[in-house]
Amino acid sequence: MPRVVIVGSVALDDVQTPFGKVENALGGSAVYAGIACSLFSKPGIVGVIGSDFPKKYLDLLAACGIDLTGLETDSAGKTFHWAGRYGLDLNSANTLSTQLNVFENFTPKLPDSYRSADFLFLGNIDPGLQLDVLKKMEKRPKLVVADTMNLWISTMREKVLEVVKEVDICLMNDAEARQLFRTPSIVGAARQILALDSKIAIIKKGEHGAVMFGKGIHFACPGYPLENVLDPTGSGDCFGGTLIGYIAKTNDLSLKNMRKAVVYASSVASFNAEGFSVEKVSSISKKDIDMRYREFGRFVKF
Ligand code: AMP
Repeated sequence: MPRVVIVGSVALDDVQTPFGKVENALGGSAVYAGIACSLFSKPGIVGVIGSDFPKKYLDLLAACGIDLTGLETDSAGKTFHWAGRYGLDLNSANTLSTQLNVFENFTPKLPDSYRSADFLFLGNIDPGLQLDVLKKMEKRPKLVVADTMNLWISTMREKVLEVVKEVDICLMNDAEARQLFRTPSIVGAARQILALDSKIAIIKKGEHGAVMFGKGIHFACPGYPLENVLDPTGSGDCFGGTLIGYIAKTNDLSLKNMRKAVVYASSVASFNAEGFSVEKVSSISKKDIDMRYREFGRFVKF
């Protein structure tokens, strides 16, 4: 029985960066978030794959300890496919194509063992699906965290705002926060997130770290100084998966613990950018993560 339920995309990605490229690589918000979460807590994924999804990818997810009961196969269709390219500024991907495929007509069905989970992560996917999963939970989870992205903000802004209203922690990157609230100010965007009822707003700033806002709270975590980034795809999802995984493991919703969760999330997100697809994040150990966590402590001490 999963402790953390994660809904999001399960994808085959084509990614090009200045340092190489991969085709039909394992990706998707639920995949990255699930693998990152599994480093701390037991996740279960809600999503759909098509007939072309390689068995070796299912084996990898299962080997990470991810519960796959909520992952449906639609054998009549193809898996969600995303293609993106990065230039030397690795902070933002240029989306070349998004093919929803089996996600186009997907209605999530939550296995019984998922419906009473205490922790829910609404990963980046159609906000209508995010709301549907939340509605299908048997009781309000202790903590609901949501992420989103520019495509949904430009095509379904009102629904994204509804998601922001429903959740406890709202995550997005800086460009998305500016786009959603039509403001140049991240602080202004965070204030609007809080005004919509989210208790916490976390704005991710790629290689520049992340900032957490709440009523009377402002906590900033720097980016880990990485020299060799290969592929940042999924780092935002790894951040979200780690954040909820750590909070679920410690079962501690205090602000002090949330600060720790943000630092762990930054640590795992930075590892992810050191490899293509899930190569790196699926091979790190707790010891690696803890070492980086302690380094963060030294970076910000003055
Ligand atoms: P990130 O780099 O953290 O924003 O996440 C990139 C991952 O999100 C890739 O593996 C994509 O497959 C997935 N992705 C890209 N666009 C979308 C979308 N519109 N909805 C859901 N997932 C997406």
